[in-house]
Amino acid sequence: MKLIRANRLIDGTGAAPLAGAAVLIEGDRIKAVGRVADIGTPEGAEILDAPPGATLMPGLVDVHVHLAYSGEVDPDAFRAESTSIHYPAMALRAARYARESLEYGYTALRDMHAPGGVIIDLRNAINSGYLQGPRIKAPGLGLTVTGGHMDQPGFADFVEFRDMNAACDGPDGFRKGVRSQAKRGADFIKLNPCVGSRRDERFYRFEMTVAEITAACEEAHEQGLMVGAHTSGGPPLTAAIAAGCDTVEHAHWIDNATLEVMVERGTYLVPTLAVNEASSTYILDQPNASPKTRRWAEASEEAKWERLTRAKKLGVRVAAGSDAGFFMPHGVGNGRELELLVKGGYSPLEAIHCATAVGADLMQIDAGRLLPGKLADILVVAGNPLDDLSILRRRENLSVYLGGKPIARLLEVAT
Ligand SMILES: [Zn+2]
Repeated sequence: MKLIRANRLIDGTGAAPLAGAAVLIEGDRIKAVGRVADIGTPEGAEILDAPPGATLMPGLVDVHVHLAYSGEVDPDAFRAESTSIHYPAMALRAARYARESLEYGYTALRDMHAPGGVIIDLRNAINSGYLQGPRIKAPGLGLTVTGGHMDQPGFADFVEFRDMNAACDGPDGFRKGVRSQAKRGADFIKLNPCVGSRRDERFYRFEMTVAEITAACEEAHEQGLMVGAHTSGGPPLTAAIAAGCDTVEHAHWIDNATLEVMVERGTYLVPTLAVNEASSTYILDQPNASPKTRRWAEASEEAKWERLTRAKKLGVRVAAGSDAGFFMPHGVGNGRELELLVKGGYSPLEAIHCATAVGADLMQIDAGRLLPGKLADILVVAGNPLDDLSILRRRENLSVYLGGKPIARLLEVAT
């Protein structure tokens, strides 16, 4: 048994912090949580006193990352990089990103698609103990229509990608797509039902038909898999939720009636504020950006705050997902999402709740809260994140425990 004592404890449930608190760990679980005076010093427990002013809190959860990608901002460089790396090398690099994320306090990550489905193999390697890394849920390949969001045109006719994504067409095509990813070992299914328009001025349009979305959700749910959907907004988003998508990502344009349906159904919103900020900043900085791209960047920046205010007021479950791997690096990048939730009207305590308990619930893992019986994924933070969330983005401030075991810092010399 281990007893960690600190000045304050944030349990992840959204409750006010507890002063003079301790967590008792037995094996990989939390055995007791409370005031130091109430817990005492159980016999045989190893006692670890955190430095003065430190905070105990649950390990962070990011429910939207892409460990297969580097975060390279320049589109040409990103494209060159993504098309020149072999899948085994991509998996090896992802192992480093996963480890780095862990050192930055992220004890659980939901990956949102990877070429070759390589994050499934990374997850298996971690679960087998070959590597140390966060708890990972992965979908394998993302399912998209031919020529859709994840099957973009623009390559020469001699270029052929294998297993970059799974292009499906028709309800039966999507059923087969779901079955293939389930066979591969997917934890959930990633769909692309709704996107911004490539050709005209619409911010959103159907990419999959309602029949395709319904078939994919039915098949996934039949197999016990949740469905996470890349969405833009409007009627196609409403239809995707009605058809059964369990988590909607991005979802900039969303009306109150749809938010109410989400509350009723328990659908999660993953607002990905960080990637929106990073991509809009990049686009608006480019003198050659097309007026259409510029307009989308400006409009989505505006819509995302207004939507978040309404979602919070109506009680939608909002989980923190940064989209790290796109426009931002893994590890140091992920924590920006908490700061932006605060910019969007959440208190620091609420932002931590979104990035711990809500994220763990979405990922269906028994963590994210410092409560007896939960997995002992714990951070000891130098300082008080409620005063300044940015302290979470410096790994020298963090001691990380994953399943009760301390994580050594290996990646001090980051490139
Ligand atoms: Zn993404």
